[in-house]
Amino acid sequence: MTEVEQLGARVFRIPLPLPLEDLGTVNAYAVLDEGGVVLIDPGWASPENEKVLTSGLTELGASPLDVRQILITHAHWDHYTQAIGWQRAYGIPVHLGRLERATVESFETVDGVYPGQVTMLRRAGASSRADVIEARDWESYEKDAPHGPPDMWLDDGDVVPTAGGNITAVGTPGHTAGHVVFHLVQENMLVTGDHVLPRITPSIAFERAPEPLALRSYLASLQLLLDRPDAVMLPAHGRAGGSVHERVRELMDHHLARLDLVASLVADGHRTAADVASQMRWTRRKHRLKELNDVHGMIAILEAAVHLDLLADRGDIVRSTVGGRDEFAIG
Ligand SMILES: [Zn+2]
Repeated sequence: MTEVEQLGARVFRIPLPLPLEDLGTVNAYAVLDEGGVVLIDPGWASPENEKVLTSGLTELGASPLDVRQILITHAHWDHYTQAIGWQRAYGIPVHLGRLERATVESFETVDGVYPGQVTMLRRAGASSRADVIEARDWESYEKDAPHGPPDMWLDDGDVVPTAGGNITAVGTPGHTAGHVVFHLVQENMLVTGDHVLPRITPSIAFERAPEPLALRSYLASLQLLLDRPDAVMLPAHGRAGGSVHERVRELMDHHLARLDLVASLVADGHRTAADVASQMRWTRRKHRLKELNDVHGMIAILEAAVHLDLLADRGDIVRSTVGGRDEFAIG
């Protein structure tokens, strides 16, 4: 049973199932007008996903053949793979942020499930975890997921015209290098993808080809939303509604507190990202690093690393590289 939620005269949320144990659903958003349907983030390609998505469209009196464009916030598989599936099956044009290109193309040029992260883990002083991650194979539900380039690369400010009002792409790098959010101008709603989520703090540097100072980009992209008028939040995970600005301020406060904590851990003599991560608490349940599974532990260490890199970039701490490992100290 698909539970389509109407959010505006022409705007609908379609929650879609995910094959992940820690994240239950991803939201597709459908914008309808007489010319057809614009679909945003149609989910993780699977027979179940396709079934729920198609029945959601049926509820709206539409079918996949009525979808004239698919807009994507970023290339993570829970947002992008069904789009590629329907690009192939129905010829629907797919639009994706241009700065996702390095990650999309790396599927052809680089082997491994987490190639960039293995290098980052070694730099973070977590070489045995890097070995474990390097040896990982794709999960069964990842193996068959379609990937490939979109039809159009989106740039910041690009406008997708629809009869009921424009949809504007706003570049928000950080969660991934080419993340974009979509402003439904007429409704003043913002499809925030994974940039702004109601309950979760979005991961940073969890992409195939991460940028060097991803947290700096992420915080700048949060500020960018504060510099724009507030809008109604349409996130990729969780319930729609509420103020974008309010949640952005909470996410900023979270990272500013983390930066302070990480700096104080460095002052206490914790020198590597792995060491710093072992002193912090993770997830809403306040887990210790050693209680997390391999992938979540990796994400935690990368999270500590991006905070250390930003502190070093600001000159609050200094970095030295010793035997391929980044070590940090108070300057
Ligand atoms: Zn994501």
